[in-house]
Amino acid sequence: MNNTKKLLSINNLKKYFPIAKSSIFQRDQFFVKANEDISIDIHEGETFSLVGESGCGKSTLGRVILQLYNQTAGSTIYYGRMISDIAPRYVYKILVNPNKYVREYNKMFEKAEAAKKVVEDAGGDEKASFIQLQNRNIYTAEAATLFSQGARVLGGFFSLEDPVPGAKLELARFKADTALAAQKRINKKISINIDLLADQIEKETDSSKVFSLEKRMARLKAKFEAGKEKENQLRSVRNKALTEVKKYKEQFANDEKFQECEKYSDGGIDLSLLKYKEMRGLRKDLQIIFQDPYSSLNPRMTIGQIIEEGLVTHDFFKHGSSKMKEYILETMRSAGLQDYMLHRYPHQFSGGQRQRICIARALAVQPKFVVCDECVSALDVSIQSQIINLLDELKEKHGLTYLFISHDLSVVKYISDRIGVMYLGNLVEVGDTNTIFNDPRHPYTVALLSSIPTTEIDDLKKERIILEGNIPSPVRPPEGCKFHTRCYMACEKCKRVPPELVEIEKGHFVACHFPEKKIDSNGNYLFKLNKEVKE
Ligand code: SF4
Repeated sequence: MNNTKKLLSINNLKKYFPIAKSSIFQRDQFFVKANEDISIDIHEGETFSLVGESGCGKSTLGRVILQLYNQTAGSTIYYGRMISDIAPRYVYKILVNPNKYVREYNKMFEKAEAAKKVVEDAGGDEKASFIQLQNRNIYTAEAATLFSQGARVLGGFFSLEDPVPGAKLELARFKADTALAAQKRINKKISINIDLLADQIEKETDSSKVFSLEKRMARLKAKFEAGKEKENQLRSVRNKALTEVKKYKEQFANDEKFQECEKYSDGGIDLSLLKYKEMRGLRKDLQIIFQDPYSSLNPRMTIGQIIEEGLVTHDFFKHGSSKMKEYILETMRSAGLQDYMLHRYPHQFSGGQRQRICIARALAVQPKFVVCDECVSALDVSIQSQIINLLDELKEKHGLTYLFISHDLSVVKYISDRIGVMYLGNLVEVGDTNTIFNDPRHPYTVALLSSIPTTEIDDLKKERIILEGNIPSPVRPPEGCKFHTRCYMACEKCKRVPPELVEIEKGHFVACHFPEKKIDSNGNYLFKLNKEVKE
């Protein structure tokens, strides 16, 4: 799966919800830390699942990726469209003022270096080291984010000694690219209108109306011709700008620093920096299917109207278009709904059928990425498998990418290509489905797997891991490893030092100080042995 193209790249994502102060004398602002330092890549055509107990932050993460909640920090880069298609404001800001980004980056980098020095000088002072270590991580992450934001947009120009000429050329290319894309869109719209008008003229029998329609057609054709000419002009401006940029880049082709920066200039769109209106233009690419099919459908609208709403909002069809009805019926059929259901209301359907309606509504706008947020949890087991099969079929047919969120590992097993296990806002283990089920390395993953209900005699005999205690508060999470208060392998180090998510094998990431094997080939647990060895 890693060979396919990246669709989303999430880096150091954080989501904190502020808590209302209890009195005017309360000075400190507290936050619910729902997501902390999440970094994952999601590839085109894969199903990436998030699992974990209720309250671990998986649904929040799904919504933050779609920017339904603003993210507190980090970046969410989307590669489904090119930056010039959207022409976001933030690109202009970075291009116009590259030196500001260099300055900001240097400032953060210096702070991180200073914190590192304090740790080195602290000697035995553990507390001072711990705070500085945390600060250093924050500064380093922010410097890296700034660096990649600027470098992504500028194609590596900005960290060179003389960044401005390169930035100016890149800005000219970007503007030309954007103008060309906008003109192409206008021309396409005119050509659709010409086709529609031609149909109308063909069907019209009243000669006076035909005359006025033909006049309109002549005007439209003239507009189209002018638009085409403008498109050609813009294309030559764009090509000229591109040649200039290429020439500039060739000058630095062998410059090491330039090459380092170049790998960031990937044309992805940082969703977290988009304005509300810009994000609206991408909404149709990024859809969500909610957990509760009862409350996520408007009870006052028929199924036809529910699906139509998205199509009209995203300019697929004009309100009242005759072609739209056929399209809606086709979408309903692909989601396993019958034509006669078009004019029915949500309350006339069963839970499974309602979830099919939600799926049809999401897929009607031809998305590229769909978040399935506990979308089978509210359904009977027999219906769950129908919906999972349907999602799988639609994924193959339309080349979709899913983020499948569930607390149920047995469901996730059948649909996922890769799985991310979350605990208290952090990703603690990421790997392909086979690895997570057969070679889990994080104690929490092992505990989750051991809790899957089974009827296999051999499995029934096996010891189960009961996690003791409640999930700690996300307002004041435990220091060190957040799982140490419930972990059966925790030791002194775990209480002090937070483990980082480290790649222990290709594509297998674990955030634990002891990522050794936890189960043997017969499925027996090895963690007790590990505990004796480590303690
Ligand atoms: S770091 Fe320590 S407490 Fe955390 S999961 Fe690993 S063994 Fe358990």
